[in-house]
Amino acid sequence: MSKDFAVIGLGRFGGSICRELSKEGKQVLAIDSDEMKVNEFKNIVSHAVILDSTDEESLKEIGIQNFEHVIVAIGENLQASILTTVILTDLGVERITVKAQNDYHEKILRKLGVNRIVHPEREMGRRIAHNVISNNILDYLDLSDDHSIVEVKAGVKMIGKSLLELNIRAKYGCNVVAIKRGEEIEVTPNPEYIFAHGDVLLVVGKDKDINRFERNLIID
Ligand code: ATP
Repeated sequence: MSKDFAVIGLGRFGGSICRELSKEGKQVLAIDSDEMKVNEFKNIVSHAVILDSTDEESLKEIGIQNFEHVIVAIGENLQASILTTVILTDLGVERITVKAQNDYHEKILRKLGVNRIVHPEREMGRRIAHNVISNNILDYLDLSDDHSIVEVKAGVKMIGKSLLELNIRAKYGCNVVAIKRGEEIEVTPNPEYIFAHGDVLLVVGKDKDINRFERNLIID
């Protein structure tokens, strides 16, 4: 098999990664110490094995070091998650993504030099919170600790006005990088662009600037 992805831990998070990667036609090795979980994924992914990922020899045997990207999706058992990550780094796995359970877990993972740390519950919570504030806020993605990218519907105060007139960059310090109208997308839109109902904007900026922009122009 081509050594694309290995996913360790087949809970809801790891399981959903396995399903999506497989749907995208990727080769996935699914790993869990629980036989029932492994059986559940046998017909979904290219390979599934029962294995305790805190056992270095077992990981070596299946050639984990040859995988391009390993995702550690062990949740509750912090010790198992950390130990697995240490083994993967020691074996020289190049790309490791780990699901962090809490800030303390994240701190340790950072010290271990993990490339990507994810907090699915926290991230999803933030996205949903923004969406429930207003139906016009469609999606919200962190770019860094203090920068985000948001997908928003043009608010009523924007309709019939141009980008130039609204002066979004100067007034709110954030950038409209694309506007979608129906199936048409305008990337780096023209300043003369006039907003209409249903236009969807992609906006990048500092969190505080985006919040100000949303409060003034998006939330009706
Ligand atoms: P989710 O919220 O994604 O469902 P969770 O936070 O509940 O996950 P757990 O259920 O603790 O996470 O772990 C996910 C999976 O990881 C479980 O199926 C569990 O069997 C598996 N797992 C835990 N420890 C190990 C280990 N040492 N080796 C392999 N698999 C493990």
